[in-house]
Amino acid sequence: MKDILEGLNASQREAVTATEGYVRVIAGAGSGKTRALSRRFAWLVDGLGVIPGRILCVTFSNKSANEMRQRIHALTGDNDTGYVNTFHGFCVSVLQEDSHAVQYPKSFIVLDNSDIDDILRIVYAERGLTLRDMTFAEARDMFEIRKLFKEPRYCLDLIALPLERLRKKYEEAAETADILFYGYLYQQKKCFGLDYNDLIVFTLHIFEREPEIRRKWQQRLEYVMIDEFQDIDGLQYRLMEALCGFHKNLFVVGDPDQTIYTWRGASVKYLLDFDARHPGTRTIMMMENYRSTPQILAAANSLIGKNETRVKKDLLPVRAPGAPVRCFHGETAEDEARWIAAEIKKLREAGAPCKSCAVLYRAHYLTRSLEAAFLKEKIPYTIYAGVQFYDRAEIKDALAYLRLVAYRDDLSFRRVVNAPRRNMGARRMAFLEERAASLGCSLWEALTATLDEEIFKGTRAAAFVRLIERFSAAPVLPVSEALSGLLDESGYEAMLRTEGAQQRLDNLAELKQAVHEYETTCGEESGVADYLRHAALFTDGDRAESADTVRLMTVHAAKGLEFPHVFLCGMNEGVFPTRRTRTLQAMEEERRLAFVAVTRARDALCLTEAGGRTLDGSPRYPSRFVLDIDPELLQHVAPPRPGLIEEARERIAESERQLRCDSRIEALPPGTKVTHPVFGPGVIVDADADELCYTVRFDRLATPRRLSFKAPLTRS
Ligand code: ATP
Ligand code: MG
Repeated sequence: MKDILEGLNASQREAVTATEGYVRVIAGAGSGKTRALSRRFAWLVDGLGVIPGRILCVTFSNKSANEMRQRIHALTGDNDTGYVNTFHGFCVSVLQEDSHAVQYPKSFIVLDNSDIDDILRIVYAERGLTLRDMTFAEARDMFEIRKLFKEPRYCLDLIALPLERLRKKYEEAAETADILFYGYLYQQKKCFGLDYNDLIVFTLHIFEREPEIRRKWQQRLEYVMIDEFQDIDGLQYRLMEALCGFHKNLFVVGDPDQTIYTWRGASVKYLLDFDARHPGTRTIMMMENYRSTPQILAAANSLIGKNETRVKKDLLPVRAPGAPVRCFHGETAEDEARWIAAEIKKLREAGAPCKSCAVLYRAHYLTRSLEAAFLKEKIPYTIYAGVQFYDRAEIKDALAYLRLVAYRDDLSFRRVVNAPRRNMGARRMAFLEERAASLGCSLWEALTATLDEEIFKGTRAAAFVRLIERFSAAPVLPVSEALSGLLDESGYEAMLRTEGAQQRLDNLAELKQAVHEYETTCGEESGVADYLRHAALFTDGDRAESADTVRLMTVHAAKGLEFPHVFLCGMNEGVFPTRRTRTLQAMEEERRLAFVAVTRARDALCLTEAGGRTLDGSPRYPSRFVLDIDPELLQHVAPPRPGLIEEARERIAESERQLRCDSRIEALPPGTKVTHPVFGPGVIVDADADELCYTVRFDRLATPRRLSFKAPLTRS
């Protein structure tokens, strides 16, 4: 028991041992909130004898869930780590058990964006639509709006319809938006797919309408703990309320200064009002920062101090002094990238591993010049995102093989039946599509039923069927073995070797490594279906961590992480803060984002920016976030030309005045019924404070519209 509390300060100990009732931790970056959370898990299990399966621990990303499982495993020595997951991941677990309540089988598939796009391709082709009618991204947004805002109940009723009825609705639909929506629902139901929105909405629906199931989960989850609570959104909040309604043991930790997802519906009010909503709440503060040197913290405090709407709290350093925070000004973006590469090279020569360095940026497009510089200096690096790792063709193909073995669904079938080539081209696929439609069965069933027919002579369809059947028959094969076997025996890897596609082979090797890591943290007994449901939620942050490479990622992706050496690049006006920052609130969120970036650094922090011209030809200025920091705290390595800083200050002051002006326009909240003089009546489904525009669904229009806050809307 004592061990569990070792290496914790007094407030952390309090957070760990105050197990009953509502407990809220509000504390700054690097103060050991996440450390306290994982120790608390160990305390519950080892100290109090609570069963891990009775604890729900919600993390913000899969990556932090994995880390947490490992920490808990190391602390408790127990393989059962309970429900340690993101909200989405937890919903998968609920639906695996209770999806029958929404008329869905347990063998549902989780659809990611590229699966949705695959479905859309079919619908567009069937109904002769083109991207000019609506882009895929717009269609996905439309689905999201319909599912989350337009009476979720209505969508649930739709999805509960028998397949034939859905098909009829699809066939009868006349307007583009309806065609796509019903077409999507039909295809979705056909393969028993659930998208990310469904995961949350379905689970919430089950909890709110099925008291017995809710009771079961409430009774099971004796303790609920949530990390990064400052970024929880409304639906997640309802889910949480439903879950802790019986034992009423809820522990949340967050830092209001790190709220960076309000653009996606998160709200810090849930953290700040927590005590009002839950009388008897115990609030614990943590002031010391264990992560960063005093120099880094002073810069961070100085930066976040410029936000007007915040509760003032400074991070107190615990660590010994280190090097000053450095600033580099390059003449061009290439200069800037070269300097970063040269610095990392020096660090490597001094013995630092590559993975101790991270380059953070506001947006992905900044990676281009970095990549060129790293290639030149032969510095190995990994970009988290860009073309998303899990969206790459070879990764989707590999997962489709696994998925076909588990579900025999059409989506996966279409993906891999002719990869590698088996002579199953368009003509034969059309034949199968038609058969499947007339028999009312899946493509896989259509193929197995017609395998002996003339049309499949000269193809390798039979070998394909045998391969899939053999792997399906194998009793609970570990995922890693199934994956290696399928990639090898299908000839998929051989195809890549012939093509000389080394990068793709490397990616597959990385996938295998990730599967291996999954098995070691989640237990080998978790089968293919289990893995797949979670894999659909994986993002780039979940990639194998073993490689010694420099990490390149956006600040959003770096949330909760820490690195000895952090380079924060592209610190220019118009980049960070982005040009799209149009209100004071949005500017404060950008500043919080910069604060998150700065507080990821443990030993050394460098802020870099470049001069030159922006896209519209105007000069580029250093970011206001660099100027926010007390100049005494910064060491300029290559200062900009005399006068640039002064010019920048003038420009920034002007932009602040503009922001204050724009912010006076008051936005109507989502849900407000409005009337437009031309479009007629409608409802606001979203109000985007960054872009200063609404998304409105008008009764008479097929698609939702984006309109400026200044649009002539009146409440109706
Ligand atoms: P963030 O707000 O960025 O998520 P956090 O509050 O969750 O930060 P942690 O990641 O838990 O902070 O801790 C930051 C660092 O400080 C980690 O390296 C952790 O191991 C270390 N740390 C936390 N508490 C202590 C402590 N009491 N003594 C020594 N080191 C600590
Ligand atoms: Mg944390």
